[in-house]
Amino acid sequence: MTEQFHILFENYLQDLANMDKMDPNRLSGSIVGLCGYLGISKISVDSYQNPRAEAIGKGKNITYFDTGEQGVAAIHKRATTEGMNITDCTIYRAASFPEWDEEKLRQVKIFNDVTMMAVSRNSILQVALRRTFYDEDGYKNLNSFIKHIENLSACGRLKGNAAIHFNLKHFSLINQQIGRDRGTTVMHGFIDGLTALAGDNGIVCRMGGDNFVALIPVSRLEQAEKLLRGSAIAYNEMGDRVMVSATSGILVIDDDFTYNAPSNVLDRIISALQAAKGSSDDIVFFSDEMEKRKAKLMRLQQLFPQALSNGEFLIYYQPKVEIRTGRLIGAEALCRWQHDGDIVKPDDFIPTFEKSMDICRLDFYMLEHVCKDIKGWLDSGREVVRVSVNLSRKHMMDIDLVDDIVGIIDKWQVPHRYIEIELTETTTDVEFKDLKRVVSGLQRAGISTAVDDFGIGYSSLNLISEIPWNVLKIDKSLIPVKGDNEQSPRSVMFGHVVQMAKDMGLQCISEGVETQEQIDAMLENGCDMVQGFFFDKPLPKTAFEQRLDEGGYSK
Ligand code: C2E
Ligand code: CA
Ligand code: CA
Repeated sequence: MTEQFHILFENYLQDLANMDKMDPNRLSGSIVGLCGYLGISKISVDSYQNPRAEAIGKGKNITYFDTGEQGVAAIHKRATTEGMNITDCTIYRAASFPEWDEEKLRQVKIFNDVTMMAVSRNSILQVALRRTFYDEDGYKNLNSFIKHIENLSACGRLKGNAAIHFNLKHFSLINQQIGRDRGTTVMHGFIDGLTALAGDNGIVCRMGGDNFVALIPVSRLEQAEKLLRGSAIAYNEMGDRVMVSATSGILVIDDDFTYNAPSNVLDRIISALQAAKGSSDDIVFFSDEMEKRKAKLMRLQQLFPQALSNGEFLIYYQPKVEIRTGRLIGAEALCRWQHDGDIVKPDDFIPTFEKSMDICRLDFYMLEHVCKDIKGWLDSGREVVRVSVNLSRKHMMDIDLVDDIVGIIDKWQVPHRYIEIELTETTTDVEFKDLKRVVSGLQRAGISTAVDDFGIGYSSLNLISEIPWNVLKIDKSLIPVKGDNEQSPRSVMFGHVVQMAKDMGLQCISEGVETQEQIDAMLENGCDMVQGFFFDKPLPKTAFEQRLDEGGYSK
């Protein structure tokens, strides 16, 4: 008889060992046999976390399992899926079964110990698994995403899906507005919506904070895009809602896509999201073109130090003109990169250099060369005009900035009045303070300052009323174009900006002026100075020297 126990027990052990890999229902086969042999009719377990038992009010949380049903398998299932913390186990002998002798009792005890060990081992395993694949807020994590991609790829079902990397916009603001707890509800609400779209084949996982990755069937992509562009999510029982939107990078996994590792997918959606962050569109699709551009940018970054010491950066000068007289009244120094026989325009490299501190070295290089040119013009007896140099916002934290600028100008013995510094608007309070410090410092040193690109970004009245600028440069997007009449919003706004600048004692110059109509609009609105293709494009040094000598443009 003991022999039979051994055989049944062996089977049971084997099933337990495989418990995390197989359907728990199969386990009941071996347990029913064993329980039948031992005469066990019921097993009860106590746990501290069973809400049902608490409701009965027993004080202790007890659940009974009939061995005829699923027995240990059910205990195991509850312990793992509900995180039930089993603390004690009682085994009941069937009434029809003869009383357990010493040998049987020993076997029952072995059965009990082994069962409890297996259940706790598996619940620990499950907790570990949860930690690996979920984050502390219950979202699936990056491991889940990677595993999911690997699984789909292994069975050839990755194609026909779109991978998305998205970042929720202004989520800290939402938290501030409605409180953190409601913010959490909102985030879950938004993600639930997307998870529903993802379906069984898809997945939505959090990478951390408000950064997520998802895999959605291409057939649902349009709906997903709509959701990502903006959805109203409820945060309380009254149905009050808040708008949630995201910046997203998407990779469509089609026949052209070659997969060899999850990083193939991840790298591409990370690139696409990066591109989306620097784009006016909130959703950007990955393309090979994007990859090439990125490689090119990285190359540019590598080439920078050498290019700087080789003198590959050239200074072009774009004239500033007083409209009524056609007089040349100034110029802006703009950078060009002479590389491999090509002239590369700043839009292709400045954004890259702005990602590192390279831009600061370039700006100082420009200032240095502008001063050198002015010194040369003065020494040769030329009439010189004020030249403006662009300074990136990256300089703003630099405490020594003003001293360094003055140092360079003085080194070339250039009177301060010939230099102007163009700075763009600022977005945050901290930057605002730095900007104010820098502009005031330059002011004290007698160096003129201009707000560049006024009208795009976050123009604020504080910016111009609290900082002692000399010049307001109105961006071309604010300038009336063909078809705008006097009443069109752009014309009205333009007129007000010019008037306001004048009232505040600022000089006003419009940039990007290309047509006679725009010149007429300038005159109508009292803006007398312009910089734009209408008069000249940015010119190489020698061409600009000719303009200096001519002194201006005939009317
Ligand atoms: P920005 O400072 O706003 O410079 C004016 C840009 O507008 C120049 O482009 C100029 O060529 C262009 N522009 C001038 N007139 C017209 C016009 O009538 N029509 C049109 N469509 N465009 C016109 P550019 O030279 O390509 O420079 C682009 C930007 O690169 C500059 O914008 C500036 O932000 C940046 N940049 C250029 N050089 C430097 C530099 O040395 N340092 C820094 N930090 N930024 C620079
Ligand atoms: Ca500028
Ligand atoms: Ca500008």
